[in-house]
Amino acid sequence: MTVPTKIVPVPPEVEAALALEGLYLALEGLYTAITDEYGERCPEHEDRCPVCGAWKVFDSMCGLFELDPTEAHSAANSWASSVIY
Ligand SMILES: [Zn+2]
Repeated sequence: MTVPTKIVPVPPEVEAALALEGLYLALEGLYTAITDEYGERCPEHEDRCPVCGAWKVFDSMCGLFELDPTEAHSAANSWASSVIY
């Protein structure tokens, strides 16, 4: 995979879309990693539970970008399926 460089000026809207794609890919990767390692969220949150701790990281990542964690996952999914490589 080639990484886009800034030799050619990139229009701001393209740059924003690339940043969004990167964010979605990162969130989707994190989501998959947590699901694989820890499984689904617990029904009840417990502070000392490793599963809850892992999901808390995902939630705070989403919070950093003002995304709702459940919406972020489905948005990342539809984004990934809408992109043609
Ligand atoms: Zn838990």
